[in-house]
Amino acid sequence: MTDSQTITKPQAEALASILHELRPEWGTPALVTLIGRNREHPAPFPALTQAAITAATRRNPDGTPTARTPAVIYQPGKHWDQPINDAGTRIPPGPPCEDHIGQEAHNCRCCWADIKAGTRPEQLLGKHHTETEPTP
Ligand SMILES: [Zn+2]
Repeated sequence: MTDSQTITKPQAEALASILHELRPEWGTPALVTLIGRNREHPAPFPALTQAAITAATRRNPDGTPTARTPAVIYQPGKHWDQPINDAGTRIPPGPPCEDHIGQEAHNCRCCWADIKAGTRPEQLLGKHHTETEPTP
């Protein structure tokens, strides 16, 4: 493989300090050594960084870190498949609008259009609203 990107020393140092911030018990020099030893790993730097951060931050249900040592980063595992931590770092979407599919209740664009047009009271943003005929 001639097109594989090797990790550069500045990249190794940058990644090592990020990992050290996430896991203070993982020493930066040891991390630099580990990354340097695996610099021929086929993963490009962005993918490696994502997997490494996932491996460093993933926790068991009891709160203990899944990876005890940074060596886990280079072993195959879930952290390579799911770079985005599934333990709640993603902001969950809000509840859906009761009237408009695909819109979130707290900022439903369709509801706002109705509110501006005067056909929906503002407090019914994201709530079910049946347009009533004006009472005579
Ligand atoms: Zn709506």
